[in-house]
Amino acid sequence: MRNFYAAILGLLLPATDAFSGGWSRTGANSSSRLHETSDFDYKAFGELTDHSDVSNLVRSVNYFISRECNYNCKFCFHTETNKNKFQFEQAHYGLRLLKAAGTLKINFAGGEPFINPQLLGELCKVASEELGMAVSIISNGSLITSKWMNLYGKYVDVLGVSVDSFDSSTNAAIGRGGDANNKHAERVLRVRDMCCQHGILFKMNTVVCSLNWEEDMNTQVEKLDPYRWKAFQVLILEGENSGRPGDLRNANALKVSRHEFDAFCERHSARKMLIPENNDVMQNSYLLLDEEMRFLDCSNGGKVPSESILKVGVGRALQQAGFDHEMFEKRGGVYDWERDKSFD
Ligand code: SF4
Repeated sequence: MRNFYAAILGLLLPATDAFSGGWSRTGANSSSRLHETSDFDYKAFGELTDHSDVSNLVRSVNYFISRECNYNCKFCFHTETNKNKFQFEQAHYGLRLLKAAGTLKINFAGGEPFINPQLLGELCKVASEELGMAVSIISNGSLITSKWMNLYGKYVDVLGVSVDSFDSSTNAAIGRGGDANNKHAERVLRVRDMCCQHGILFKMNTVVCSLNWEEDMNTQVEKLDPYRWKAFQVLILEGENSGRPGDLRNANALKVSRHEFDAFCERHSARKMLIPENNDVMQNSYLLLDEEMRFLDCSNGGKVPSESILKVGVGRALQQAGFDHEMFEKRGGVYDWERDKSFD
């Protein structure tokens, strides 16, 4: 039955769709073209489940809608190797497949997801309003506007912003936010205030690397008061940031030992919202979907894509994801991820 749906999908998608070896590309002016395929009628697909019972495994999924980014972090492990992205109708169908398979929470990431504000907003809307998922976004915080928040903020439960340092020269050295006069820390404060205004849970992510592992961020984090603060040990992945031929980054000089990572976490242990995730914890415990809605298997030190869920269904693609469900449970992958709906 799944193959039948996939075949129909192949007929309905544009001629250059991802499954004919080409690509549904949208360029820089893509936002006005999001609904180009408005005749895409997934009601014609009927039943969406693929009869694989994976509901316990796919409760929380991360979807990198595009690799495009306006920052240039030296340790980035999801680099801009292409500018591809699904159009709204394709991504929407993929979200419906995930919902049918049991996904309860979707996290939109990138790249920088706010580079495609309309696509991001419309996906938040259908994920929340139509599919009843909890919706989270991870962003570098630089492109979030009040206008977007006024339009789409009500569909977002959690907004996470990456903050590796409160020192502008360290941010500049990392590549997060341009030159040494960059205003990354101020932008984060602004995003936190917008989250408060819209009843969105504010979260922080920090990548601990050789440039920030000795920093004391206690005062600033206390002021920002995120409801969760994740600290990740910088991760080297072939094909992304390992410095091998073809990789866009070489993050080897930014690596920290487990001892250095633990020292950073210990220094901030009074911040009860801190959740440390070293390389062993994070590498395979996230379900990652790339811009073609393919799960990414990081278990062998690179990112090997599965077949797309739009092509083979969630269950079969999941078999190729290298996902460590036990570690997902161990790291507390399921948590209180819904905003207070009485705010709306
Ligand atoms: S902001 Fe994120 S996606 Fe962009 S370069 Fe930095 S780490 Fe990579």
